Parts: sequence; structure tokens; C-alpha cells
Amino acid sequence: MRIRAITFDLDDTLWPIAPVMLRAEQRLDAWLRAHCPRAAAAYPVEAMRALRDRIADENPHIAHDFSAQRRLSLRAALLAHGYGDDHVDAAFTAFYAERNRIEYYADALPALDRLRALYPLAAITNGNADLDAIGLAPYFHFSLRAGAFGTAKPAAEIFHAACARLGLAPDEVLHVGDDPELDVIGAHRAGLRSVWLHRGNATWTEASAQSEVRPDLTVRDLGELVDALGDAPEADARASPR
Ligand SMILES: [Mg+2]
Repeated sequence: MRIRAITFDLDDTLWPIAPVMLRAEQRLDAWLRAHCPRAAAAYPVEAMRALRDRIADENPHIAHDFSAQRRLSLRAALLAHGYGDDHVDAAFTAFYAERNRIEYYADALPALDRLRALYPLAAITNGNADLDAIGLAPYFHFSLRAGAFGTAKPAAEIFHAACARLGLAPDEVLHVGDDPELDVIGAHRAGLRSVWLHRGNATWTEASAQSEVRPDLTVRDLGELVDALGDAPEADARASPR
């Protein structure tokens, strides 16, 4: 595979997202109980989750922006109980700080350390992780977040924007991610090479529910990606972005 840069998905690729979201919801609940008790009583964790889902359904124009969905649901919950936008901002800040406290998969940082010495790396995420807050920004030339960019994976636009910022053609860029549709099929349709990072047991056919698109490479962890790419890259893979 002749590639000159690698783009990475973040959630469920570099860290598991479910425990992060659970802790962030609990942190938000604790903050609301301390500062907005009437809203906290009306919206315990399960009810807040349902409210957020409903707000997301009702606002398809922000389907790509989880931060906007969260802010809007907090606003609905808090303003209805007599709290103001200052409380909305502070509640979001409490939630978001916890959302950026992640625990990496054991293979993530060693692989990034190895690969960043060989290729320019960038992040493409549909989530709202803040790489500066997480401490991961130095690994990546940039991070494209769907919320800020305006379009989410699997749309080709966000992949093409990443390639443009890298100064590379799509087929010179390898995208790595866990999600068959968002990462592998999205990247493939945009003309990139794709790696399916699959830590589970399902086959590609089972996981993707279609067979026309296949990942260029499937790995069980990022160490396998390093084994495939990191040891003997073709000479031109070391080139910096044009
Ligand atoms: Mg993911």
C-alpha cells in the first residue's frame, strides 16, 4: 500500500467511548444536583439521556454536532426550571471536562508514537473530543471534528477536507477506524485507503451488512497496524505533506 499520511477515527479507535460517556453523564448529574437541584430532580441520568435523544431527533440540522445537541438539551432542562444560560454553560463545561478524560486502549499510544515518526497523522471524528484537553494534540497535524466542520462521516466532504489539508490525493491517505459504515465505507467512497480496526469477533460481512466495499486492511489492534505499516514503509511514504 503506497500511502503518505494516516487519518484516525478517535472514539472506539484510540479509547473506548462507552465508559467515558457514562462517567460524563454521572458527572453532569452530580453537577446539576449541586447547582440546579430542581432540574436534577426532573432529569436524572436516564431522563436526561432521553431528553437528549429527543432533542437530537427534533433537530436534524445539528445531527453532526454532539456538543450542540448537548447544549440544547441542557438549555431545555435548565430554562424550564428557572435557571439561566450561565448555568447551561457551566453544566456543559462540567460534562465536557469529563468527556475529555479518556483511558486509551493499551496499544494506542505506542502505535501513535511509532506511526507519527513515519507519517503525518490527522484525526477525523464525528465526536466532540478535544485533543488539546486530552493531551493528544501533539500527535496530530490537525483534528477535523464533524461538529465544527459541518458534515459528519461517512460524507466524502470531511475526508476530502482532511486530504486537502494534508496536501495529498485521497488514494495517498489511509483512514483507520472501528466503524464499518462511518470509517471504512465512508473512506473508501471518498477514494481513501481504509483500515478496519476490529477488536471484536464479527467478520466484515457480519459487521458491515454488505460486501461490495472491503477494507484494504483489517487489524485487531493498533499494534497490528504498526506491524503492517511501521516497520518497512516504502521510501516515499516518509515524505511530508506537499
Ligand atoms: Mg469510532
